[in-house]
Amino acid sequence: MIVLIKDHADPIQLENLISWLKGMGLDVHKSVGQTQTLLGLIGDTSTVDMDVIRSLDIVENVQRVQEPYKNANRKFHRDDTVVSCGGALIGGGHFLMIAGPCSVESEEQIIGVARRVKAAGAHLLRGGAFKPRTSPYAFQGLKAEGVRLLLEAKKEVGIPIITEIMDINHLPLFEDVDVIQVGARNMQNFELLRELGQIRKPILLKRGLANTIQEWLMSAEYIMAGGNSQVILCERGIRTFETATRNTLDISAVPVLRKLTHLPVVVDPSHATGHSYLVKSMALAGAVSGADGLMIEVHNDPPHALSDGAQSLTPDQFDDVAQAVRNVLPFACRGSEAL
Ligand code: PEP
Ligand code: MN
Repeated sequence: MIVLIKDHADPIQLENLISWLKGMGLDVHKSVGQTQTLLGLIGDTSTVDMDVIRSLDIVENVQRVQEPYKNANRKFHRDDTVVSCGGALIGGGHFLMIAGPCSVESEEQIIGVARRVKAAGAHLLRGGAFKPRTSPYAFQGLKAEGVRLLLEAKKEVGIPIITEIMDINHLPLFEDVDVIQVGARNMQNFELLRELGQIRKPILLKRGLANTIQEWLMSAEYIMAGGNSQVILCERGIRTFETATRNTLDISAVPVLRKLTHLPVVVDPSHATGHSYLVKSMALAGAVSGADGLMIEVHNDPPHALSDGAQSLTPDQFDDVAQAVRNVLPFACRGSEAL
């Protein structure tokens, strides 16, 4: 429930109202904006009489909040959240480009790709070490060795890194990883999310294969409820009846999320489409739709990649896409008119 306080309300009456609400066992989050003060009531508001609150002198209006997420909700946090990914910012007008191979395969591969994507303008290097594969017989990633090689690339090339966690017991390996990815398949691994709420490191939370935006935001809420507010959402396509593409990129999720949440949003045109020839157009669509960043798979030799070669760009192709993205960013639907 949200209580909208009148402009120039008497501060003593406001404090009295807050104590009264707390006395009912509610948590009260006061958010003071430039023009409006809001009280976010958290807890069981089912017995609160809205009409009584609305009738108070200092109250402009009372609304029941339908959304069950609070921390991720833009209503309680009007300004965009800006997350620092090892020094590279995302959100609030900062655009972040993430690029790198689906899987870390060797030292030569990851360092070579890191150099190329950094030179092309990527701010963050991606690379999977623990790979969630549909088949248990497919390449499962280099695991701890893969993380070590990514850290090597980070040091050698001077670029922050992101990689996926699949098991909370692996967390000690991620100490020097700048951003931890939670993959689509783990979006509702609530124990993992809860544990990641206890750390103070940015988490990139991918959308589940067949999850609604609200379910996705509830998963963000699991992390944020633990006190970790550095959550980045990543739209990576959802399951539909269409088979021409690996998934269906839900591009409208970007403006929907901008309205519902203050968290930064990344579009991943690689997993969304499954085909390298579709990556440029969908990367541009993502950038123009108002996304705060892109995540693109880049491999030195896509036909021989150990995973996701069909959707991986060569470094030259990434160069071209990154340039094209920079060219369209001035036309992106951003700012308050997009809300
Ligand atoms: C990945 O980023 O390599 C990955 C496995 O993505 P997703 O979880 O979106 O399938
Ligand atoms: Mn992949």
